Amino acid sequence: MNYIPKKRKFLLIGAGVASIAAAQSIREVDAQAEILIVSDDPAGYYSRPGLAYYLTGEINRENLFPFTEKDFRELGITRLNKRILRILPETHQVIDQDQQAITYDQLLIATGSTAIPFMSDSLQVKGVVKLDHLADADAILSMARRRQTGVVVGGGITALELTEGLRDRGMRVHLIMRGSQYWGNVLDPLESEIIERRLEQRGISLHKQAKISQLITDKNQLSAVRFQDGSTLACRLLAAAIGGRPQLSLAQQAGILTDRGILVDEQMQTNLADIYAAGDCAQVFDPSSGVSVIDSLWTTARQQGAAAGANMAGIETPYRRSTPYNVTRLADIPTTIIGRVGGGVDEDLQSIARGDSETWRQDPFAAVAQTVHEINRVRLMVGPHTLLGAVIMGEQSLSRVVYDFIDQQIDITDIRENLLEPGASLVSLLTNRWASWQRANDRPAQ
Ligand SMILES: Cc1cc2nc3c(=O)[nH]c(=O)nc-3n(C[C@H](O)[C@H](O)[C@H](O)COP(=O)(O)OP(=O)(O)OC[C@H]3O[C@@H](n4cnc5c(N)ncnc54)[C@H](O)[C@@H]3O)c2cc1C
Repeated sequence: MNYIPKKRKFLLIGAGVASIAAAQSIREVDAQAEILIVSDDPAGYYSRPGLAYYLTGEINRENLFPFTEKDFRELGITRLNKRILRILPETHQVIDQDQQAITYDQLLIATGSTAIPFMSDSLQVKGVVKLDHLADADAILSMARRRQTGVVVGGGITALELTEGLRDRGMRVHLIMRGSQYWGNVLDPLESEIIERRLEQRGISLHKQAKISQLITDKNQLSAVRFQDGSTLACRLLAAAIGGRPQLSLAQQAGILTDRGILVDEQMQTNLADIYAAGDCAQVFDPSSGVSVIDSLWTTARQQGAAAGANMAGIETPYRRSTPYNVTRLADIPTTIIGRVGGGVDEDLQSIARGDSETWRQDPFAAVAQTVHEINRVRLMVGPHTLLGAVIMGEQSLSRVVYDFIDQQIDITDIRENLLEPGASLVSLLTNRWASWQRANDRPAQ
């Protein structure tokens, strides 16, 4: 009798970018494996960062989906739209919402994070929304009415995306911030001020150091908000973005070690055999800093998922955390945030914002070099021998160069004093130094 090798069963919980990248890695190694992706989101795999552009109307719904049905078929992935309720590590099974058991050889938890609710039970009130899923974006669009008032609460990228999305749908938007500056633990006061001024020029009303104390409803429909100072603002729509929280309950109930996220080692493996985690739900050990960190970034989730998939398939692949960065748009100003830039307090966010990294908020104890020209601004966090972080607003030609300086830890000892001189030409100092580093490292000129 011929020996027929058993097909390995890979079960991936979640249909986000981390799971899809894991599936791609597994398939590269094992052409025969059964790969099952189970997700409770009926929309499946789509771009969450793209939801902002869907809200403003810059892209259509169909542009949110990176994969076609043909792509899934070619990868040989089976998909199931169900919620997983429990993991049973001893029997290598999970239990779905219909109490059906699904067995696995290797399991990936890639359950992402979920928006922190604004006031307990507020989501039961009609007109109070968040932005986690495509269904949330659809709900916001169905509620947005021209010339009506919409309120956005929070800080970070998502709060701004909601603000601009509602404004572009013709609403009169009020952005409510508890703190004294927008995104105060990542941006410095001048950067926040540039964004705030732009928002005001576009008709957004900013309420700083303001706190909503009560939602006023009429037959469970939001009709106004009351502030702590007693004043009220009539509105039928309130969108909250006060941070995201990794979805940990499946892991915790299964006895998997968690902290702020699911703790994984360099191979993206949890403390239990054959169970891995990746993406927004994972808190990953970073050997370079010796601490475990959460990123809520698309690229990071993809890289983590790819490493997890390879390890699950048996190819030892340590996840090497590259410098976290995001190229985004704040009040229409292209902005790149790289490495360690923050350290200030931010009362508007109760946890990590979407499109954010815990690393950004670390105080680098560095000197600051900067150039400012209207909205074009470069802020560099300068360590003793390397650049540690940067915020680049407006003109972006230096972003790639600065990313290399930070990620590759290019030595700046010889230009450090010049960088820190008032009025220094950061652009020429850095590009010259970068060009010589490229030549020394045999890198092709860009
Ligand atoms: C509005 C918004 C804007 C963003 N903007 C940016 C940006 O500008 N730049 C950037 O880099 N990143 C941004 N992000 C973050 C980025 O989208 C995430 O880092 C990335 O999507 C994480 O991927 P993931 O696969 O870990 O999780 P997710 O994409 O969150 O996927 C999690 C999956 O798990 C499923 N799931 C959860 N629990 C269960 C369960 N019990 N059973 C079954 N399925 C379950 C969910 O349905 C979902 O399919 C943004 C995110 C949001 C929401």
